[in-house]
Amino acid sequence: MTVPTDPTAPTVPPMIWANSGDSHLLEPADLFFERMPRALAERMPRSVKDPDGAWETLHIDGNSFRRRLPTRPLTDESGLSQQDKAPGAFDPVQRLKDLDREGIWAELIYPSISMWTSSLTDPDLLREGVRVINDWAMEFQAVSPRFVCTAHLPLLSIPDAVAEVRRTHEMGFRAAFFPVEPPPSQPRFNQDEWEPLWAALEETGLVMAVHIGTEAHDAGVINGQYHRGPGGAVLNYFETSFGGQRIAAQMITSGALDRHPGLRVMISEGGATWGPFLADRMDEGYRQHSSAVRPRLSRLPSEFLFSQVYASFQHDSSAVAAMSAMGWNNVCWGSDYPHIEGTFGHTQKTLAGLFDGADIAVRDRITVGTFEELFPHVPPVPGERLP
Ligand code: MN
Repeated sequence: MTVPTDPTAPTVPPMIWANSGDSHLLEPADLFFERMPRALAERMPRSVKDPDGAWETLHIDGNSFRRRLPTRPLTDESGLSQQDKAPGAFDPVQRLKDLDREGIWAELIYPSISMWTSSLTDPDLLREGVRVINDWAMEFQAVSPRFVCTAHLPLLSIPDAVAEVRRTHEMGFRAAFFPVEPPPSQPRFNQDEWEPLWAALEETGLVMAVHIGTEAHDAGVINGQYHRGPGGAVLNYFETSFGGQRIAAQMITSGALDRHPGLRVMISEGGATWGPFLADRMDEGYRQHSSAVRPRLSRLPSEFLFSQVYASFQHDSSAVAAMSAMGWNNVCWGSDYPHIEGTFGHTQKTLAGLFDGADIAVRDRITVGTFEELFPHVPPVPGERLP
C-alpha cells in the first residue's frame, strides 16, 4: 500500500553535504608547554586574551602585538552571541557532531595559533616547535578519516622543511600548510632554492595547502599594506586576498608546476573568481612580453592554473561562476569552521543561497568532487550523489 503524500505538509529541503577546503583546529593553550622544554615553549606563539574577550595579545619569541579578535557578524543568523564558539571548537569528537548538524563532511584542517610561527626567526626553535604541532595534529587526524590535517613545515631551513615533508608523509599527512610568503629572511617562492621542497612535495603527493592572511605579522606594515583610518577593516581584509594569488602566480611563472606536474596547490579562504582573472593576466604577460620571459614554459600559464591550482571560498557569491561561467573546475567550498567568521550555525542556508539556480553538476563538483580529487582517500559524503 502506498501512503499518499500530504500536499499540505511542509517540505524540508534535503541536506546539502559539503566537504570543506578551509577548516581549522584550535590548539590547546598548553600544547607547547606540555611537549617542549619550558625555555623553548615560552618562545612559541601564545595568545593572552583580555578579560572582556575583545582583544588578544600575541607573544611570539619575545615580540608581542595586540589585535582585535573577530566576532560573529551583526547580521549572523545562527542565533549565537557575537563571541560564542562552536561547541566542538576544541574537541575532535564533539566537532564531528557539529559537522553532522551543519552538513560538513570531510575537512582540510589548518592550524590556528600555530600559523603565527611564520613570525619566528630562529630555525632551531621552529624545527622543534613544528614537530610538536605535527605530532599533535596527527593525533587529532586519527580521530576520524574525515579530518585531513595540514603538516607544518619549518621554512626557515629548506633542508629541515624537506625532512619534515618526509617525516609527516610517513606519519599519514596528505597536505602541507604554507603561508602565502616565506619567512622574510628566505628567498621568495619563485626562486630556485626551493626546488628540493617542490620535489619532495611531488614525490610524497602532499598537497601544497596555502591559507591566506599568513604573512609574518610585520610584513604588512613593512610592505605598506596595512591600513588605518576610514575603511581600514575592509581594506585590510581585502589585502589578505592577494597573497594567495601571488603565490599561485609564483609557482606557475617560475616553472615549479611545469617541472612538477604532480604538485598541486590549494589556496584557501581567498575566494575563487580571481583564478580566471589571474590566468588571463599571466597569459598576456607571457605572450606580449615574451622577449623578457624566462623560464619558457611547456604550456601557457593559464593551463597550469586551470589544472594544478585549486581554491576554496566561503561566502563569495561570484565564486560559483568561476566554474560555471569561466570554466575553472578546481573550485571548492570551505566553511572556515570553527572560526567565528565562518559558516557555523548557518552552513545550510549559506550553501542553499550559493547554489540557488546553479547546475547540479556544478554544485556537486564545488561541494564534493574537487575535494575528493585532492583527497581521494576520504570516505564518500552521505546521501545521494549524481548518477
Ligand atoms: Mn580559514
